[in-house]
Amino acid sequence: MIYYDTHAHYNDEKFDDVVDETIKECLDIGVHYINNIGYNIESSKKAIELSKKYNECYAVIGIHPSDVGKCEVEDIEKLYKNLNNGKIVAIGEIGLDYYWVKDNKEEQKKLFISQIDLANKLKLPIVVHSRDASLDTYLTLKEHPAKYGTLLHCFSPTEDLVRLVVENNYMVAFGGNITYNRAKSFQKYMDMIPATQIVIETDAPYLPPVPLRGTINTSKNLPIILEKLAEYKHMDVEELSKIVYRNSLEFFNIKE
Ligand SMILES: [Zn+2]
Repeated sequence: MIYYDTHAHYNDEKFDDVVDETIKECLDIGVHYINNIGYNIESSKKAIELSKKYNECYAVIGIHPSDVGKCEVEDIEKLYKNLNNGKIVAIGEIGLDYYWVKDNKEEQKKLFISQIDLANKLKLPIVVHSRDASLDTYLTLKEHPAKYGTLLHCFSPTEDLVRLVVENNYMVAFGGNITYNRAKSFQKYMDMIPATQIVIETDAPYLPPVPLRGTINTSKNLPIILEKLAEYKHMDVEELSKIVYRNSLEFFNIKE
């Protein structure tokens, strides 16, 4: 089986002492590619460094909504200009998060939009984080579309978002979240989203799938996620693995 982990954070300090062996173990089980996702300037820089060190790693750079006010979009653009090694494949993770902080919605939206603009300028797709903010995510993406592709990470389907995804050919990424109990309500949406619009991810070190909750998540857990996805999609695991792998290469413009 082949895997592409479209969303991981080996740039997280949890991996500082074990990053080499962990990435090696993931490659050993058939993970061909890993995107390391930035969430501020420092982690974006680290994602680029990992992409220089490993053939299999690509970088996604951007400012997470939780870092609003702490980082400037100009600095992400500078990183791109100064460090681009041809392996920065998207701007992310960007978006809206009203779970932790609700009193800075306007600033979050501004930051989100300015990073969509940056992605359009650099001709890159975007990787979107949306938590407790599905309506505003919907409205922002409708008014400020990303021209080179949109991937909704850790996708938690709602009526509006699924319609947006289907109508605009957006991609969605499922991770450990589809193994959780509350994901049972995803079934009707899973039927609406074609397999050609789905990729998989781990969000390592976060969101370990059931039955590994409470452990540090790694790309080695992708088989668990894929298997669950195959159940939801009523598809053969092997066939689905090829489809989501190919989707990932296409979305991030990676030529094998
Ligand atoms: Zn993430």
